[in-house]
Amino acid sequence: MEEREYGKEIKDPVCGLYVNKSEAENFSEYDGVTYYFCSLECMNLFFDDPDHYSVCEAAKKSSE
Ligand SMILES: [Zn+2]
Repeated sequence: MEEREYGKEIKDPVCGLYVNKSEAENFSEYDGVTYYFCSLECMNLFFDDPDHYSVCEAAKKSSE
C-alpha cells in the first residue's frame, strides 16, 4: 500500500498529509523553502507560527 510517488507529493508541515505538487492550490515560500498545504486553513496555521512548523520538521528528520 506504500506506492506514493514521493517526487510529486510533499508533506503538509501542519497536518502531515501528502499534497500533490502539481495539483496544490495552497503553497507559499518561507525562508527560501516552498511549503505546500492541503488547505488554506493549514497555510494560515503555518503562517501563524512558521518557525514552529519548519523547526518541527527539521527536528523530526534529525531524530529519525
Ligand atoms: Zn493540511
